[in-house]
Amino acid sequence: MEVETIAQRISAIYKRISHCAMRAGRDPLEVKLIAVSKGVSAEVIKSAIDLGLRAFGENRVKEALEKSQLLAGLKEDIEWHMIGHLQRNKAKNAVRLFELIHSVDSISLAETINRHARDIGKLQRVLIEVKLSPEPTKTGIGVDGLEPLIVSIRDMENIKLEGLMTMPPYSDNPEGSRPFYRRLREIARGYGLRELSMGMSGDFEVAIEEGSTMVRIGSAIFGERR
Ligand SMILES: *Cc1c(COP(=O)(O)O)cnc(C)c1O
Repeated sequence: MEVETIAQRISAIYKRISHCAMRAGRDPLEVKLIAVSKGVSAEVIKSAIDLGLRAFGENRVKEALEKSQLLAGLKEDIEWHMIGHLQRNKAKNAVRLFELIHSVDSISLAETINRHARDIGKLQRVLIEVKLSPEPTKTGIGVDGLEPLIVSIRDMENIKLEGLMTMPPYSDNPEGSRPFYRRLREIARGYGLRELSMGMSGDFEVAIEEGSTMVRIGSAIFGERR
């Protein structure tokens, strides 16, 4: 896609984020834009970096590593975010690469992350992915398992738990996501967790109204994925 088109899309998204935040009585700077670059080439990511984006979300460790290596050496400090399901056998590389892992969903995964983080002397920032919809395909931990997971993570020295993430079930109407985002915010508040990773291309304004602090936007920046 044309760099110009990406530039226009990014500025349109920033405008929508700030208008929406202000309408909701929030500071637009509380909402971080994570550009979801899964399936997007390093070259296109490079143009997004030139346009000012710094945080990129990926759902596969291998793909993210390859692209981060291609982009290494840029003077800008790029942040990589793991937004997809993480398998334990990929945790070692994930801990090396990612600033924030949004998708912790089991005690065993958290233990593995903690061990690899300790090995390299890192405090790994994480979010817990919560499954709020009954769809069988959705990843994340159910609400019943959340408390034990939070309690366990709070004992892990090399993990910093900052908040929660969720994916609502697919809906044509952004309002369909609202009850899920509202619920996530209420759950996070109950545990004193600040960060809420919620909102995608189709529903990020609803997510911001419900308190999102990180929106994960792919197709509205880079175009439809094939
Ligand atoms: C792909 C993906 C997104 C971005 O979706 P868009 O609709 O392209 O904005 C956000 N979050 C997760 C977890 C994803 O896998």
